Amino acid sequence: MRISFEEGLRLFQFAPLEELQEKAQKARFEKHPKPYVTFVLDSNPNYTNICDIDCNFCAFYRKKSAKDAYFKTAAETIQEHFEFAKKAGIKTVLLQGGVHEEITIDYLVELVRLAIKNYPDIHPHFFSAIEIWNAAKVSGITVKEALQALWNTGQRTLPGGGAEVLSERVRLAISPKKIGPNGWLDLHTTAHDIGFKTTATMMYGHIEEPLDIMNHLEALRQAQDQTHGFSSFIPWSYKKTKTALRRQVTRWAGKEAYFRILAFSRIYLDNFSHIGSSWFSEGKEIGMESLKYGADDFGGTILEENVHRATDFINKTDHNGMLEMIRKAGFDPAQRDSFYNITRTYENINSVDVPLEGRVHEEDSMPILHL
Ligand code: SF4
Repeated sequence: MRISFEEGLRLFQFAPLEELQEKAQKARFEKHPKPYVTFVLDSNPNYTNICDIDCNFCAFYRKKSAKDAYFKTAAETIQEHFEFAKKAGIKTVLLQGGVHEEITIDYLVELVRLAIKNYPDIHPHFFSAIEIWNAAKVSGITVKEALQALWNTGQRTLPGGGAEVLSERVRLAISPKKIGPNGWLDLHTTAHDIGFKTTATMMYGHIEEPLDIMNHLEALRQAQDQTHGFSSFIPWSYKKTKTALRRQVTRWAGKEAYFRILAFSRIYLDNFSHIGSSWFSEGKEIGMESLKYGADDFGGTILEENVHRATDFINKTDHNGMLEMIRKAGFDPAQRDSFYNITRTYENINSVDVPLEGRVHEEDSMPILHL
């Protein structure tokens, strides 16, 4: 039976972690009886790092005048990053960028058009809510019209980044120029009405309180009741290095906070099929351990990535690394697509041939995640 908001808040704050874990694992295996943990072969490049939104938790963005600021043409972006993805055996590209007044809906549509035309075997999983909202504003059209233009070009899924914590109080403190909780939810539910599948995320571990997290999960649960368009929920912790927000953060979320959020979200989000944990955002050891807290998905290989990298957080793996981590954690690896359909399983396959471009060539930075 569905648990109420009040009961949820009590559980989230006070239940022993072991109790949450037990309930979460029960719910996970009721939804996914097989011990598969899924992953996707993906890459997360960017088309621009110029951004006018000034989120104080972000170390990635640059002002237009910065020496290392860039804004690539659609053709350059697709040629460079999709050609690399193709050589590396990547199946999905999660393309995102900063937010500024030169990004029109025509530019976003052109990215999708070129990707689908030139690389039909790679799935375009493009643009967070704020990027689409901004392109609509710059182009003088509604968010719905912008989403429809992307749909008509062939895009079918959107990533759920930029939700942070769906709380007006938190938004005012960390990203006052961003669309608020209602804007993020409205864009996603509008996308669902058109036919898109989207993911939902949460970035916690800064100034939020337990009630803010509850409100976030409640908003997602209600939206999912309405549209059934969210494919998964993926929480991750705030990375502080080189960000302005770090000065305001007085306590840091450790691995127990991560396990608690994962387990509780599996219990509370009873209308979400998939809960994603991450080797990438939390580190490999915590990531593997977290699979025992209700998650059934382990994210992607994330071959190219610049947002966490900007905070000196460098964590790398490849196709075989995913197989190894999932097995070490006690589960069976299964590759999926961006709709969360399983596309390959690995019974009797110890390792696979990984193209040179898809292999890890860099040591993990093993960052100081939790002080
Ligand atoms: S998080 Fe996104 S919107 Fe915010 S400053 Fe960074 S690039 Fe811009």
